Amino acid sequence: MTFADARVLDATDPLAAVRDRFILPEGVIYLDGNSLGALPRATPAALADLTQRQWGERLVRSWNEGWIDAPQRLGAKLAPLLGAQPDEVIVGDSTSANLFKLLVAALRVDPHRRTIVGELGNFPTDLHIADGAAGCVAGATLRAVPRAQVRAALGPDTAVLLLTHVHYKTAERWDMAALTAAAHAAGALVLWDLSHSVGAVPLHLSDAGVDLAVGCGYKYLNGGPGAPAFLYVARRWQDRLASPVSGWMGHAEPFAFADTYRPAPGIKRWLAGTPPMLAMAALEVGLDTWAEVDTAKVWEKSAALFDILAAAGDRLGLECVTLREPGKRGSHISFRHPHAYAVVQALIARGVIGDFRAPDILRLGLTPLYLSHEDVARAGTILGEVLAQEPWHDARFTARQAVT
Ligand SMILES: *Cc1c(COP(=O)(O)O)cnc(C)c1O
Repeated sequence: MTFADARVLDATDPLAAVRDRFILPEGVIYLDGNSLGALPRATPAALADLTQRQWGERLVRSWNEGWIDAPQRLGAKLAPLLGAQPDEVIVGDSTSANLFKLLVAALRVDPHRRTIVGELGNFPTDLHIADGAAGCVAGATLRAVPRAQVRAALGPDTAVLLLTHVHYKTAERWDMAALTAAAHAAGALVLWDLSHSVGAVPLHLSDAGVDLAVGCGYKYLNGGPGAPAFLYVARRWQDRLASPVSGWMGHAEPFAFADTYRPAPGIKRWLAGTPPMLAMAALEVGLDTWAEVDTAKVWEKSAALFDILAAAGDRLGLECVTLREPGKRGSHISFRHPHAYAVVQALIARGVIGDFRAPDILRLGLTPLYLSHEDVARAGTILGEVLAQEPWHDARFTARQAVT
């Protein structure tokens, strides 16, 4: 695609104006919004209001002026992006902590089902937490198998199937409805990690019959570094599962200051401690930005941006590890290169920020809210320049590197 072609697409892009809702540095093409989303223009003012007015002037009164309800309010704002009901989602803690809470709860549903089935090569925290959660429930274990064996690993011992919907490295996307149905057919629950899905691809948790889900606030949701995560529990499970992190904020009456724990009805029982309001305020701006965009246009544009980079990769002879069919992938594209780390460093030096995933993946995030077609076309050109000019193009360099 020529820059002129890209500019034609930009001229009719219904999302073009959304770019102005973000602050991005001059001279940078940011292809890492799937790792840390960009800064919404409204966030600094929202944080200034949170600190100066809400904290500085209103002090403790702010808890009754919008703070205490923030986890549920943000959850309700997020629900449409998940295809869930507003009272099925709550915001708080990290993705890792939420995984732990839900996995232990799922293991406690049926004492005859003792296995978490998971995927080898999943994002590390998912496997580490699953192992840790299993260690907290008598007789429970994690059974992590290669992707192709996940379905066959489901059985009468499976308590819960834990999968990440869009793979952090390859962007491969599971068929959520099909795998949810497979887990249910085996009598198990399903827990989806949506960290690379929410804000990247259409989600229909209710329609797919999903039981449980978690996901990240700082990637496509633009909630800021370490933003609170979210957790989804389908209504039918809400009063049958309880959090093992039975903190006072999930108590039915936190301000009764009771000695014994009694979980709140509904989604609120998944809260543990006091919400981090500075971080919640930033995430709320990210969510409000999403509320104003036509998501169908976002998914369409993601596919168009993908095609631009996929074509550039083909021209350059790069091995693309991401599947081409839009329905089978997320919103990033990954190439394999023996010197992927050095390529990423060279790209960054030229203002194209992507990232490296060990051992040999060059990963480029496609965030339609703040990337233009021209940005992505330019990134493809710069990638070509990097590959042509740098020494790893030379076979002798490759050979020398191979022995060090
Ligand atoms: C980013 C990501 C996480 C992040 O977990 P944290 O607890 O926020 O560090 C978890 N799982 C997956 C699949 C991710 O991509």
